[in-house]
Amino acid sequence: MISFRFWPVAAISAASLIGLAACGPASDPYEPPSPVQESELTEAAIAVDADRPAAPEAVAELEAANDHDEGHAGEAHEHGGGELAITREDDFLTVSLDAPLANFGLSETKVPEGPKAEKYAEGIVEPIGPTVCEETERSITGRTDGTHGAMTVSVVWRCKKIDRVEGMLVHVFERYPAFEHIDAIYLGPEGQQVAKELTPSDTEIDFD
Ligand SMILES: [Zn+2]
Repeated sequence: MISFRFWPVAAISAASLIGLAACGPASDPYEPPSPVQESELTEAAIAVDADRPAAPEAVAELEAANDHDEGHAGEAHEHGGGELAITREDDFLTVSLDAPLANFGLSETKVPEGPKAEKYAEGIVEPIGPTVCEETERSITGRTDGTHGAMTVSVVWRCKKIDRVEGMLVHVFERYPAFEHIDAIYLGPEGQQVAKELTPSDTEIDFD
């Protein structure tokens, strides 16, 4: 499933859509969201997201930031390349890797689905620092135009002392040798940003 926390803009749009759809008489009392409504929200977020480019906001920002790189302007699908976004919010780190299916050794005509797909989220990253982080969620979303395809692999971690997380070790190159370089970005809770290009010989992004 799509990681809800990762698309704040889509989430807000979905909320307003539901507001419209569910709007009865203006005198309806406010009710806190129930679990059922939250699942509706998630579905709406997916529906909204389907109308937008599949890249998460942070990745889109990264692409915009990299547009000055010669030869890479507008190049969203490059075999061997990938984009990694790490966001921190409360106790959670959300990691999202977007890359061509070919990088994972997959056919680009078919997007992997279900539990089979989730294994591609396994062991791709590892938080670094003197605390304990537990993986709480994995999700895979893919798209293909019939010739080329890509997927976004997301992993959410919950950390006991998130302030102590110093960075992230990226194991993608070891697991999937077709990766050659990954544009990584870290977005901190107070707007901090660290951007770095990772390669098979430089696989760590530090958060400061
Ligand atoms: Zn391709």
